[in-house]
Amino acid sequence: MILPIIAYGHTVLRTTCTDIPADFDGLPQLMADMWQTLESSRGVGLAAPQVNRPLRLFIVESQSTFEHLDEDERLTLFPDGGGIRETFINPVITVASAQTWEDEEGCLSIPGLWARVKRPWSITIEYLDATLQRQVRTYTGLTARMVQHEYDHLDGRLYFDHLPPLQKKLLAGKLEKVRKGHYRAAYPMK
Ligand SMILES: [Zn+2]
Repeated sequence: MILPIIAYGHTVLRTTCTDIPADFDGLPQLMADMWQTLESSRGVGLAAPQVNRPLRLFIVESQSTFEHLDEDERLTLFPDGGGIRETFINPVITVASAQTWEDEEGCLSIPGLWARVKRPWSITIEYLDATLQRQVRTYTGLTARMVQHEYDHLDGRLYFDHLPPLQKKLLAGKLEKVRKGHYRAAYPMK
């Protein structure tokens, strides 16, 4: 089922999400719904609070981004291969590189807004995958950026929180419009 995406302004996007308990039986359905929602919105990542479930779960799909890049961009932005299509349950980022880089980010919950955000180039993350197997993976480049963006959602952080004060101020008017419901999105929102 395609779920409506929660728009900026809703308190669930500022909530610290809770771990998913081992006996949580709604998990397969929630994961299936989130993948369907992500595909229909043409996004690259989606966190459970964005569909109004304050749980520590997100998905990232960077393969289609990889496929749309030319060879130079692939080598630069995907140094560790062709992207991922992965589910992260109860994740913990354990290592972040001192090396950082800037790139443009947007968010399905904040339609019509983009900003350049500085983030670590690579991270190591421990999590349970969709089959509840424990994984420890290191991601770099654009995939690492997507993982960090979604991970932030689990702690109620949004990408523009990382911006310097002046840049944040420049976005304030547009954010206020979204908060008041003045936005256009090509997917269902609420
Ligand atoms: Zn987002």
